[in-house]
Amino acid sequence: MKASQLFYPTLREVPSEAEIASHQLLLRAGFIRKTSAGVYSYLPLAKRVLRKIENIIREEMDRAGGQELMMPIIQPQELWEKSGRWSVYGDEMFRLYDRHNRGFALGPTHEEIITTLVDADVQSYRDLPLLLYQIQNKYRDEIRPRFGLMRGREFIMKDLYSFDVDYEGLDVSYKKMHSAYRAIYDRMNLNYRVVEADSGAIGGNESHEFMVLADSGECTVIYCESCDYAANVEKAQCKAADDIKSKSDLMSIEKISTPGMKTVHDLVTLGISEQEVLKTLMYSADEEIIAVVLRGDRDLNEIKLKNFLGAEQLFMADEASVRERCGAGFGSLGPVGLKLKIYADLELTGMRNFSCGANEDNYHFTHVNMGRDFVPEAVIDLRNAVEGDLCPVCSASLKSIRGIEVGHIFKLGTKYSDAMGASFINANGEEKAMIMGCYGIGVSRTMAAAVEQNNDDNGIIWPIPIAPYHVIIVPVNTKKEEQMQAANSIYEELIADGIEVILDDRDERAGVKFKDADLIGIPIKITIGPKSLQEKQAEVKKRWEGETELVPLDQVVKTIKGIIAAGMKK
Ligand code: ATP
Ligand code: MG
Repeated sequence: MKASQLFYPTLREVPSEAEIASHQLLLRAGFIRKTSAGVYSYLPLAKRVLRKIENIIREEMDRAGGQELMMPIIQPQELWEKSGRWSVYGDEMFRLYDRHNRGFALGPTHEEIITTLVDADVQSYRDLPLLLYQIQNKYRDEIRPRFGLMRGREFIMKDLYSFDVDYEGLDVSYKKMHSAYRAIYDRMNLNYRVVEADSGAIGGNESHEFMVLADSGECTVIYCESCDYAANVEKAQCKAADDIKSKSDLMSIEKISTPGMKTVHDLVTLGISEQEVLKTLMYSADEEIIAVVLRGDRDLNEIKLKNFLGAEQLFMADEASVRERCGAGFGSLGPVGLKLKIYADLELTGMRNFSCGANEDNYHFTHVNMGRDFVPEAVIDLRNAVEGDLCPVCSASLKSIRGIEVGHIFKLGTKYSDAMGASFINANGEEKAMIMGCYGIGVSRTMAAAVEQNNDDNGIIWPIPIAPYHVIIVPVNTKKEEQMQAANSIYEELIADGIEVILDDRDERAGVKFKDADLIGIPIKITIGPKSLQEKQAEVKKRWEGETELVPLDQVVKTIKGIIAAGMKK
């Protein structure tokens, strides 16, 4: 491709709406343009990257036994009503109505469609397992579309669905996908981690997320350096820390006056540390008001609470109903004398003589002890794990790191096959529900994640396997015939060898061309300048390394091939 003909409108300025590197660089380098919040056009360079990512995914899905198909984006309301999700999905679903006022969703995901499809055309165990996938746009009206392609409202996803005759079969399909995903991210040269993820309240389910590690990631990954344990923060288990159990004697409970003090931090001014405060939160769980207590400096993990309770709906109770039930407002609540079910975090078993609200405005208790002063309904793991907690597997100290969720695999069981009536006849002639799994990859998000992980002050540094082009040739002065001749001949030779190459034939200053080459992130740059040309040489530079190599003109193609074959060593 000649740069003079390539549509890549680069920008000098960093667009003000872009906060993270990938968003800034993909805009600046002319890869994407915004149409509306979370909706983007992919320009030619981006389209090439997407195609490479998609092809790697496709090859690995096919290798694992997947078959590609394509399902409609427009999905009828009836199917979503059958699964019960038309009402549950809420505002994240884009809905539209046809001329007969029939409702449709713009597909946010495809369980309803695929399960119906398979149900209609698969009757026998002989036709299973089936692994069907597509690569297609998805639509989700996200509350906060942001960070460019990271959280779009229209985005590209690969979604595969597995159908098996039994749970052993599902295990096999799940393992196949797990290794296929590893192969995919390995091939893309991305630095990632596989983490345990929440799979809801139903036991026996399993879920993993694939996280590309980057400081800008929206997810927190908790992992152990001593063993393989890694989980996202929603899932990461906290161990009861026996060794931090306080040895102090139980003291007598005391009521103290705390005028105007409402937060854990206010109590700190009395010389009470956050770790000695008991925080009381009020929730409405399927319309029942419950209390949750945990250490003052900890964050409640709502997913753990919801899973333990098996609640459909869980949200923080409003202050008026709390005051009605407890006699005090937020900030003065505590478990002592409370006539509600109390759920205590596991860590409280190790705490003695803590402070908490007295259920009376402007008063707190000190020297409160669980078991003596209040008895919880259950003591369970309810808080978010943090760095320094003990690994639930090997008890080493846990670490925390940020990640971008690029893939998610999930054992569904019979959730959708039951709802949509997808059954088959087994070898004994009995009718059974198909056992399902679903496996997503954020294709457009993966492109952004790759940039997030591979950039410097000058621009993007594409990993070779997904780079829009492998090589860019920059003749320093396009008006000099001998430079253009050398450039053209290398260009032709590389093309003949199947190497994807841009020739920057624009009549621009060399500095501008070098800057653009760096910005768009082409992994290998060949510079043809007057000095090296005199020696019948060209300069070859890897985008991810500092040094420039002088290579005889007749060796350039061989050198490039060698670099591509060796890949990027980081
Ligand atoms: P998130 O927690 O980030 O909202 P999710 O759990 O809703 O993700 P899934 O429904 O599992 O996501 O979708 C599969 C994959 O699609 C995700 O792992 C992610 O890579 C990608 N994805 C999900 N939502 C978006 C989005 N709004 N924009 C871009 N990619 C997305
Ligand atoms: Mg989501």
